Amino acid sequence: MRALQTLAILLLSAAIATAQTSAEKMNTFVTTLMGRMTLDEKIGQLNLPGAGDITTGQAGNSDIAKKIEEGKVGGLFNIKSVAKIKEVQRIAVEKSRLKIPLIFGMDVIHGYATVFPIPLGLSCSWDMEAVEKSARVAAIEASADGICWTFSPMVDIARDPRWGRIAEGSGEDPYLGSQIAKAMVRGYQENYSKSSDIMACVKHFALYGAAEAGRDYNTTDMSLVRMFNEYLPPYKAAVDAGVGSIMASFNDVNGIPATANRFLQTDVLRKRWGFKGFDVTDYTGINELVPHGMGDVQTVAALALKAGIDMDMVSEAFLNTLKKSLQEGRVTQAEIDQACRRVLEAKYKLGLFSDPYKYCDEKRAATEIFTPEHRATARKIAADCMVLLKNQNNVLPLKKGGTIALIGPLADNRENMTGTWSVAADFSKSASLLEGLRDVAGEGTKIVVSRGSNLDADSLFEERAGMFGKSLNRDHRPAEVIRDEAVAIARQADVIVAALGESAEMTGESSSRSNIEIPQTQQDLLRALLKTGKPVVLILFTGRPLAIKWENDEVPSILNVWFGGTEAGHAIGDVLFGAVNPSGKLSTTWPQNVGQVPLYYDHMNTGRPLESPWFQKFRSNYLDVSNDPVYPFGYGLSYTHFGYGDLTLSSTSLKGSQALTATVTVTNDGALAGKETVQLYIRDLVGSITRPVKELKGFKKISLNAGESQKVSFTITPEDLKFYNNDLKYDWESGDFVIMVGPNSRDVKSVKINWTK
Ligand code: BGC
Repeated sequence: MRALQTLAILLLSAAIATAQTSAEKMNTFVTTLMGRMTLDEKIGQLNLPGAGDITTGQAGNSDIAKKIEEGKVGGLFNIKSVAKIKEVQRIAVEKSRLKIPLIFGMDVIHGYATVFPIPLGLSCSWDMEAVEKSARVAAIEASADGICWTFSPMVDIARDPRWGRIAEGSGEDPYLGSQIAKAMVRGYQENYSKSSDIMACVKHFALYGAAEAGRDYNTTDMSLVRMFNEYLPPYKAAVDAGVGSIMASFNDVNGIPATANRFLQTDVLRKRWGFKGFDVTDYTGINELVPHGMGDVQTVAALALKAGIDMDMVSEAFLNTLKKSLQEGRVTQAEIDQACRRVLEAKYKLGLFSDPYKYCDEKRAATEIFTPEHRATARKIAADCMVLLKNQNNVLPLKKGGTIALIGPLADNRENMTGTWSVAADFSKSASLLEGLRDVAGEGTKIVVSRGSNLDADSLFEERAGMFGKSLNRDHRPAEVIRDEAVAIARQADVIVAALGESAEMTGESSSRSNIEIPQTQQDLLRALLKTGKPVVLILFTGRPLAIKWENDEVPSILNVWFGGTEAGHAIGDVLFGAVNPSGKLSTTWPQNVGQVPLYYDHMNTGRPLESPWFQKFRSNYLDVSNDPVYPFGYGLSYTHFGYGDLTLSSTSLKGSQALTATVTVTNDGALAGKETVQLYIRDLVGSITRPVKELKGFKKISLNAGESQKVSFTITPEDLKFYNNDLKYDWESGDFVIMVGPNSRDVKSVKINWTK
């Protein structure tokens, strides 16, 4: 026993010694290298230009080549293919004085060539293994194509569906968002030991998702308790998971733009959280400090460096002004050195100094991208992200055979299946919904198709919403003609599948909307289809929560498919015909109308909460709409049904750091096997600051056969009760709490407890 103990201690000390040695080794390497660098070369490392128009075989003649040779470039982004990247890397490591390799970044946001569902969709899987797997596949493919750094995960909490970039995040909840942030970082980076490990970049720090009025790039102004309790946790989770880099956001935060915000980029990020990686601006983030009103380019570049920014994306403001600022005493040598050190450390961690071509293996490029295995994973995950919003009379799953009328502007369009940010996708390789359905349904089912309407009546709107080659190929005939044609076709069918909603670029960057309904012309089509009296299934494409109260009231069956990626067409077929039982749950609240926004489940109670059903005078509610959402956070149906037994607790009176067990028995009392996400919420009834009416604190996704039951238990400790108080101290307070468990944030079973310190 003693010998074993000694061995364990020896092994542990050896492990610690090795860990220290590798950190020390990096330190020695970087210090020695920096000892040989000129000031210009140090500043050059902080420069991240876009790749511009580099073409294979001619990289040496590109505008950027000269700068690389002169040591004025630290990395490049949005350049792809091993051939190009190798050529550019060769300039850096053969022609620049110190031969420092470049880092190559890209927006690998939800997959690479094999595209996964948009992040908002992915978050609805509530399946952390699937989330991690999607990031791993993305890392394998991107790294096989020369990329070693991804600008992902985007973890901005968003409660305003007007904001187009809600599509790129994981929804409204800090707990779910944090779990996803960690899973993504794990999936991308692993431990940098393999050539398939790439560096993640968590973004956009901070509060980008809280833009006023949901208008992109707009101001945020927020109390510190809200910031720390509700918006910062996912960024912190990514930092805790060891994320290698972070991107500053475009917006201002409480009066200081994030790119120049020392409180965020240094006090919170480095001092409070101990972040050790490097901090890059967003695209032209430093130059944008000028219109923000922070001063001229030289002034704002100095402000950004002093705030804690290490790398300047696109502005070239560091490159052009830092030397002068140093001479004038506006920045210090130590500040420049620190930023340079962090960028070099990232390259060291990635192994680029040992092998600058680590990510340039033609063999991998030929065999590891868009593989059948990756596509099969994407298809499975896409199906698991779809959310069944309504299924009256079990219209779904559809039976094979008979005639299906597939109607709508999104019925037969490949380009729009992948959603926003799919820069490495080859649209010609993704099946449209029609193609996917035909493949899944097989020969015995007749599928007739018609457009039925344009995306929007306004052709200019449609153009704005179809950028980057994702056109819906507008039909220029009058709306009635297109609609009547579709209705005539629909009349011949047994069931109507209406493929409606948003185009891929109606969400994403700079795609905010003030109206979050399905465009009117599509609603008119839906109304006409319903009038045929045939069963109608609405296949809803969207990158944001939409206001679909009318559709929910009138359409028997609604399946929200988001933008499911390369394999979306087939995955939708899998769910429609029942090969996959839908199990996605919403990661956002869906409002009745845009006037209720922001509407989110973990709101405060107020001093005048609504006590009985709407309406109540002198209570916190509206005259014209109830406070209810159409679908609450955590909501999603299945083709089967799950019954919840009573919630039992191991104790209702606790003291100190005990653990509480909450248990519920879940029964699949329907006729099909299915998956259910059981959710745990807690309410802190009394606090030194106002506390939310409930907060998600855990979830478990389980699989149950028809008729099967399972006991699901959650262990709760005081750690789960902690929050940031008014002094930003993270702790819990004694008192009464309500423990809640259920299938979504609304329909919970609850038990009150007391927990004292
Ligand atoms: C976006 C970032 C993105 C960057 C680089 C910016 O416009 O805000 O999310 O990573 O461009 O492409």
